[in-house]
Amino acid sequence: MNQKLEMGLQKELEELENNDLRRTVDDLRFISSTKAIDKNNKEYLVFGTNNYLGLTHHPQVIKASKEANEYGTGSTGSRLTTGASFEARKLENNLSKFKNTESTLIFNTGYMTNLGVIYALTKENDVIFSDQLNHASIIDGTRISKAKVKVYNHKDTSDLENLIKKELKSNNKSNFFIVSDGVFSMDGDIAPLPELVEIANKYSCTLIIDEAHATGVIGKNGKGTVEYYKDKTGIDLTDSVDLQIGTLSKALASEGGFVCGKQVYIDYLINKSRPFIFSTALSPATIASANAALNLLKENGEEYLSSLNENTRLMRNLLSNAGLNIAEGETPIIPIIIGPADLANKISKELEKEGILVSAIRPPSVPKDMSRLRLTVIATHSKEEIEYTAQKIIEIWNMLK
Ligand SMILES: *Cc1c(COP(=O)(O)O)cnc(C)c1O
Repeated sequence: MNQKLEMGLQKELEELENNDLRRTVDDLRFISSTKAIDKNNKEYLVFGTNNYLGLTHHPQVIKASKEANEYGTGSTGSRLTTGASFEARKLENNLSKFKNTESTLIFNTGYMTNLGVIYALTKENDVIFSDQLNHASIIDGTRISKAKVKVYNHKDTSDLENLIKKELKSNNKSNFFIVSDGVFSMDGDIAPLPELVEIANKYSCTLIIDEAHATGVIGKNGKGTVEYYKDKTGIDLTDSVDLQIGTLSKALASEGGFVCGKQVYIDYLINKSRPFIFSTALSPATIASANAALNLLKENGEEYLSSLNENTRLMRNLLSNAGLNIAEGETPIIPIIIGPADLANKISKELEKEGILVSAIRPPSVPKDMSRLRLTVIATHSKEEIEYTAQKIIEIWNMLK
């Protein structure tokens, strides 16, 4: 027992509490893709999930999960021992086809994918160039890597190029990596992929794009950032992105992560990536759900994406027309910048009373005085649900601001 440590922890928690930054876990049960109940059976409309296509409650996804449960509720081991289910291989092949890459490897979470990929591929003397607003799992991957890390200003490709040039002067034997979110998780903006590709090609860098909020979310068929730019420019950058990382936990309605790329990368990761090697594989049911969701996305992508985009536009328009400070963009991640953490918290609490769940995002997830409501719309929200929620947000904001 260490009383000094325990008292220190308690004190830190109290400081968080006093600054409106203490986090708690609030239990929910989803009764549909957009509605959940709490432990008192109070029902909420939820505008904060990553369940972008609402597929967590699709009958085909649930059916696939139930069927695969027949093969055992757990995978029984690492993929390298006894945990390599038929389901995992099937999903990997399906993802490779969807992303049009040679090969795919599943990890247990998107978080572990970033740790596992960045950690395994980068060596001492290598340099990782990382966008300032990359997801925490990328940052943690760069932290456990032995490589040097250079953070470039958010989406600032001239800053990136300058940093690369500087490194080249002192260092030309090592490998350079550029890592960026495709869609940034807090602001919902999209990476400048064509410029990143150009720089990666010019300086022989390996380009890694994290598609967690892009797969199933942008591009005409929901294929992600590469497709988004192909729709825009007609240029297909698939082969210029060395590795696409993704998650099964957002639009794909399950849990897990994946990386798509050339076979040589996948074979190397199977041999060298510790988060892949030393953790029990996902259960067949978890993987089968993701595969069923992916099949639905492949069959109905255009339709899903057009609902998602329509809902996104409606919510963005309603809120910004009322004078709220919405970070501009076109993705369903809609940050409503409020400023002080306590005000963001208060608005979120008031909405909760009204039966609407929208998360307040506070430091350290976002910079100080940039606290916000981070609202996400999904494809299965109805027009009425969106209008009702927008109206409540506007009312409460006008009352409290
Ligand atoms: C959510 C997210 C992850 C983590 O994925 P999980 O499957 O939830 O662990 C990784 N990268 C980005 C950009 C994310 O938004």
